[in-house]
Amino acid sequence: MRKDILRKGLVFMTICFLMYAAVLPHIITNVEADLGDVVYEIPSPGYGTSGLTWDGNYLWSDNSVLDKIFKIDPMDGAIINSYDSPGDGARGLTWDGTYLWNSDTDVDKIFKLNPSDCSIVDSFDSPGDDPRDLCWDGTYLWNANAHNSKIYKLNPSDGSIIFSFDSPTSSPLGLAWDGIKIWSSSSVSQKIYAHNPSDGNVIVSFDSPGNAPCGLACEENYLWNIDMLDDKIYKIDINEPPNTPTIEGPTSGNWLLSHQWNFTASDPNGDDIFYYVEWGDGEYIGWSLAYNSGETMPRSHKYNAKGTYTIQVKAKDIYGLESEWGYLTVTMPCSYNIPMQWFWDRLFQKFPNVFPILRHLMGY
Ligand code: CA
Repeated sequence: MRKDILRKGLVFMTICFLMYAAVLPHIITNVEADLGDVVYEIPSPGYGTSGLTWDGNYLWSDNSVLDKIFKIDPMDGAIINSYDSPGDGARGLTWDGTYLWNSDTDVDKIFKLNPSDCSIVDSFDSPGDDPRDLCWDGTYLWNANAHNSKIYKLNPSDGSIIFSFDSPTSSPLGLAWDGIKIWSSSSVSQKIYAHNPSDGNVIVSFDSPGNAPCGLACEENYLWNIDMLDDKIYKIDINEPPNTPTIEGPTSGNWLLSHQWNFTASDPNGDDIFYYVEWGDGEYIGWSLAYNSGETMPRSHKYNAKGTYTIQVKAKDIYGLESEWGYLTVTMPCSYNIPMQWFWDRLFQKFPNVFPILRHLMGY
């Protein structure tokens, strides 16, 4: 009887799980993802959807066939609201924290819109024909141009050009800002690129999930990418581990004294980081408290015997991605032969606070 109840319960839970999986609109393909891996996907509003942005809670996209702007639920792709776009060629969107910005290839304009009804607040001419996706870096507006293959940094008050760089391929279609880098997409190369915003140089790139990547939007360490052929919006992991930490400090010293070394690493995503240090003598410092990306952790250590040691350090970001090891070899004391070393060892041990200059010269 009891086994029967258990069996029925198990069958019921299995059916519930299968029903849930069947109606689940998204696919989680990789929980511990690497750079460029798709972790999630939802349907796009359909053919002609190209611009994309993230407002902190929802996705927004525009459609140049339907002349609409959509507010989209990121969980399942459901359309929460739709509005008429200002023009007939809506192909770029971004969110500045208060307003939506929309580029239009029909009239070659960039519109500033009220997000409650997509009414026009302001507008100016785009920097070139065929303006595509937009992004907002906190101060300036960026716009990809499919006609001349440039990516522009614009003054949002009048659309004047502050800076521009050439896209790696013709016809850049998507644009996003992750807080440090500019991301662009190209359906020519079917790649997604991260650019240094100061010179446009490509920092990293990966293959796009679909064959026609266009609009991009950034949500923390994820990039959303809409694909024109797949009619899907992909959520892509763009987290990277911290770079290899550096170690600064003495490479030789007095084994009787404590010395300080400084450990520094930065994270490409600007994530907070933790440090882990091994001193090379069996002693170590477990994972530290969190430091800002690029912030130095100073630590002191005293070796209890003469010798040559290798200090090593690694960093990990708040998502658990670990860097390579950084190394520094140190010698305690200096490796040259000191005459009558037994005498100096005993003298300096007995009087640890005298003869500082002599100590320094002899490497104690
Ligand atoms: Ca990271």
